[in-house]
Amino acid sequence: MTLELDRRQRAMLAEMNIQVWSPEAPSFPVPSGRVREADAPVPAPPASAGAASQAPVGRSPSAAAAAGPRPGATLQPRPSGIETMDWDSLQAAVAGCFACKLCTSRKNTVFGVGQPPAAPGDAPRVDWLVVGEAPGENEDLRGEPFVGQAGKLLDKMLQAIGQDRRRNVYIANALKCRPPGNRNPEPEELAQCEPYLRRQVELLRPRVILAMGRFAVQALLASTEPIGRLRGRVHQYQGVPLVVTYHPAYLLRSPGEKAKAWADLCLAMAAVARPG
Ligand code: SF4
Repeated sequence: MTLELDRRQRAMLAEMNIQVWSPEAPSFPVPSGRVREADAPVPAPPASAGAASQAPVGRSPSAAAAAGPRPGATLQPRPSGIETMDWDSLQAAVAGCFACKLCTSRKNTVFGVGQPPAAPGDAPRVDWLVVGEAPGENEDLRGEPFVGQAGKLLDKMLQAIGQDRRRNVYIANALKCRPPGNRNPEPEELAQCEPYLRRQVELLRPRVILAMGRFAVQALLASTEPIGRLRGRVHQYQGVPLVVTYHPAYLLRSPGEKAKAWADLCLAMAAVARPG
């Protein structure tokens, strides 16, 4: 595909330390050193330091208020009928969910953020769905995914492809509640939470899903293969093209991998551009 980048997008890429081909810079960067594809990174949960400056978008305060830690709470089955819920009902169901032990320590559920719906009950109409792993400390406090340094990097990545977390994009996590101490999600927790993400995808009907990090991939593709083996091709989830890439928190620790993340974004852009 031909990729036209304006000056702003090139500036964003420069901030990500990514160069793209141009007549003046005729070499797409190849990370130095051996690629550790067989040793897939286990991305850390989203960074918690330095909350992003923007206000939460697309989050229902009433839904968030219904959440909260319930120390010693008795676990309850997920609400029935998730597969037929509209957007608002789904958000309320998540806010009142006590289906796994993460409900005992969360401060807020984190349903997602992005393009606001056109009308109450409707899902936002977006081309892009970004799926991360699980809320970190600040995400739990704010009830919004991808805040802090990882969120800032994600915003730069989106800007580099002409997107914005407030427009034409929705951002969610595989897990809606924070694992205490930012530990890794457990398989049972991912399994309990998966129907919510599935319904989000059904309602959003994005043109592409960008799965960021190992646990997003586990939830969406039911695969434990390393990210390095899954990236570079287009998968499918419920008939929606899905591209696997590294979590921004991992990219912050491994800036040499940013060029690969850029290649993944280009692959996802090609999937969006393909006639539906
Ligand atoms: S993580 Fe998901 S399944 Fe577990 S309590 Fe939160 S919303 Fe419910």
